[in-house]
Amino acid sequence: MRGAILVLSGPSGAGKSTIINHASPNIGDYYFSISTTTREPREGEEHGVDYYFVTHMEFEEGIKAGDFLEYATVHGNYYGTSLKPVNNALDEGKLVIFDIDVQGHRLVRAKMGDYVTSAFITPPTLSELEKRLYARSTDENSVIERRIDNAKEEIKALNEFDFIIINDTVEEASKQFTMIANVARLKQSAEELENFILHWEN
Ligand code: ADP
Ligand code: 5GP
Repeated sequence: MRGAILVLSGPSGAGKSTIINHASPNIGDYYFSISTTTREPREGEEHGVDYYFVTHMEFEEGIKAGDFLEYATVHGNYYGTSLKPVNNALDEGKLVIFDIDVQGHRLVRAKMGDYVTSAFITPPTLSELEKRLYARSTDENSVIERRIDNAKEEIKALNEFDFIIINDTVEEASKQFTMIANVARLKQSAEELENFILHWEN
């Protein structure tokens, strides 16, 4: 069987990286889609681990070459998902996890909806998000303000997602994410269902 896609979206600072890392030992074999971005690396971030950090020009060459399954401008920078490694992981039957924004979710759903399960993660309130972004202290205040403004828009897309995870405690949110990841694996595409019926009848 081909693999499946789990899209995790939510405002910057919602806890996406924290929850994926925390749940990682409990969700079986998966491939985390490493995005490409033109934003500057934060302290501690590594090229090829957190993101592929590229220049504007390199990113636009990738667009022209058709390398991206989806890409979007988020907070003034390009972010995109490379198609090839995703297809390879799907062919290997893996669960592919995306940490992408709500625009990316729409595009992936439009192209590969058959394979997609999605979850939106958010802290319980906007003020808690603000607190966590300042506490993370990886971004300048002006960048944080921009992310908070963006979060107020992103939350409006909540109803486009299959599940919502309220990240109050890491423990509870990770448990919910683990359940969703396991359900996502069980999702079958229309093509797989047709194949199953063909084999089942013989
Ligand atoms: P994202 O990947 O969505 O941008 P992070 O995983 O970097 O978010 O989390 C943002 C900040 O909030 C980090 O400093 C992280 O340690 C903290 N954090 C995440 N989840 C919680 C939680 N449940 N309670 C308190 N702080 C949290
Ligand atoms: P950050 O700069 O905090 O790492 O990420 C900013 C936002 O960009 C987050 O909402 C994150 O989910 C989103 N993002 C990261 N990679 C991609 C991607 O490949 N495509 C899209 N559309 N959004 C992404």
